[in-house]
Amino acid sequence: MRTITHIVIHCTASPQSWGVRELMAEFKAKGWKSPGYHYAILADGTIRQLHPLDMVANGVKGHNEHSIHVAWVGGIDRQGRPVDNRTDAQREAMHRLVDDLRHHYPQATIVGHRDLSPDRNGDGKVTRDEWVKQCPCFEVKEEFKTL
Ligand SMILES: [Zn+2]
Repeated sequence: MRTITHIVIHCTASPQSWGVRELMAEFKAKGWKSPGYHYAILADGTIRQLHPLDMVANGVKGHNEHSIHVAWVGGIDRQGRPVDNRTDAQREAMHRLVDDLRHHYPQATIVGHRDLSPDRNGDGKVTRDEWVKQCPCFEVKEEFKTL
């Protein structure tokens, strides 16, 4: 079993209607050998496992070896701009899943994809101007601090 240091939250930056089939097709189209996420949380709150936890997924280059990647389906508006359009069911399911993962990996830090952006000015914090993308479109540390 690999050591897990991070639980990384993503959005799929896709239509909210997407399911496992569309996600897997996209990974394949990108030429990836393994999926981008271990879990996808669909708009109706269904949690689907895409990849075994003891195998590395393709979530964030340079941060995959010791991470579990969790994505909620959605995260863009009709114009393709980043938006937090999580459904209540998705939000609830994500909290349930993260709680469960925390129970199994109590040493793991929970972060959003954008929090793993390079700290370009070296001040020890990854700030908004340093984000390489918006994913997962909400403030993970804020939302999960009370767990
Ligand atoms: Zn991401």
